[in-house]
Amino acid sequence: MLDSIRVRLTLWYALVLGLVLAFLAVFSYFLYSRSLMQRTDSAIVELSAAFATTFIAELADTSSSAVPSIAAREAMAEHRFRDTVFGLFDSSGNLFASSFDLPVEQDPRLIQAKDLLASSPLRDFATQPDPDPAALRTLPVAQGIFRASARRIAAPAGNFTLVVLQSLHPQRELLADIRHTFYWAISVALLLACIGGYFLARQSLAPVAAMASQARSMGATNLHHRLMVTNSRDELGQLALSINQLLERLEASFEQQRRFVADASHELRTPVAILRGETEVTLSTDDRSPAEYRETLGILRDESRRLARIVEDLFTLTRADAGQYSVNLRDAYLDELATQALVRARSLAAAKDITLKSSVQPDLLIRADETLIDRMLLNLLDNAIKYSPPHTVVELTCRRKGDHLSICVADQGPGIPLELQLRIFERFFRADQTRSRAESESGGAGLGLSIARWIADAHRGHLELTRSDSSGSVFTVTLPAPEMPANPGPG
Ligand code: ADP
Repeated sequence: MLDSIRVRLTLWYALVLGLVLAFLAVFSYFLYSRSLMQRTDSAIVELSAAFATTFIAELADTSSSAVPSIAAREAMAEHRFRDTVFGLFDSSGNLFASSFDLPVEQDPRLIQAKDLLASSPLRDFATQPDPDPAALRTLPVAQGIFRASARRIAAPAGNFTLVVLQSLHPQRELLADIRHTFYWAISVALLLACIGGYFLARQSLAPVAAMASQARSMGATNLHHRLMVTNSRDELGQLALSINQLLERLEASFEQQRRFVADASHELRTPVAILRGETEVTLSTDDRSPAEYRETLGILRDESRRLARIVEDLFTLTRADAGQYSVNLRDAYLDELATQALVRARSLAAAKDITLKSSVQPDLLIRADETLIDRMLLNLLDNAIKYSPPHTVVELTCRRKGDHLSICVADQGPGIPLELQLRIFERFFRADQTRSRAESESGGAGLGLSIARWIADAHRGHLELTRSDSSGSVFTVTLPAPEMPANPGPG
């Protein structure tokens, strides 16, 4: 049950509200009870003062024979209150008059005060040397509680101590009523808050439940579905929008992967079909001449090379996509790498009688993965040779320009149509499919430029087609150059 956000929200809400209400209740109860006690105390002190005045007046009254007990009774009759008891002590600490001397029926709750007046704590309280009437004391008895004030009365007839006792029973009852009211009011408030909070949470989280059920129904086959956005400005709307954007990216990458697999299998199918076809044709007859076998084996070798190259390219790209290709950057010399690539491209160029020219600045220090740079140069040179007519020139230029190195491969081929120039870097894209296959024994699968561009990117550089028209094409790679050493060149 606690796994539900609705329930957890409701419980938290109720807990916080409960704490706030409890704090307010305790605080206001404390303030009220304190002010109630203050009011009670000041009423007792006032009553005590009034009683003392009356008592002194009664003592001075000649008609009452100035007998303290009679004067006390007169004063008590005058100041009789429901919850109040008076006790008068003489200078020796003897109780000589109390409210219980009056011939009136006392409130049953006050009867206990009779015992209290006779008790030693009260006697001690009454006989203290100089009692302060405002310093009241709470005195508990068996079933009640009293507030007591003591006052010294100095009269010509002698010194007396007046003790005023007031039952705190009504105050206690009032406070108990307030407590009960708080108990049930807080309980009802919490119950209502729980019910309201639960419905509120359910209402607010309804879009989440809807999103969850929509998301559950989504899979590879319906990735184009999107979550419903009820209000794009609120938090849940923002969440739905973010999920939809994520779905869009997923769909795009899913589609890219699907196309990649479809294109890859398409590319692999052709050489495999050629291998199988050639083998079957050759094996269909027993009496083949050695020359025929050589011819077939030559085709098989070319196709298996082509197959191996496609598989290797695919493997490189998949690892690059997955971020698993570790690029080993080392200090190297670009001029050396360029010369090596030219040597390896020489046989391809010779087959078409293409002249390979190079203009390579010496001591071009570079921080690079040599294998990858070599591969990139070969891909570019291979393309330049592949797509150029015989007896033309292919030129490789490498130089440092400020803080970067520039590698250009220029050919005198037919150029790439403008509308296709951006697409040639796409995977499996070939501007002219038939020519690509027919013209090269290692006819590419349309992956060469994708790999070359990835290699440039992996070195924090970039590869572009800088010019392409009927006079030829120029591919330029720009790579960051390491800082020039103080004393350039190896020792
Ligand atoms: P491929 O394996 O087909 O060579 P690439 O990715 O290397 O694949 O090249 C993609 C396409 O770009 C090629 O099929 C070709 O049409 C075009 N292309 C690449 N380089 C050149 C070039 N130097 N001259 C003309 N067209 C080129």
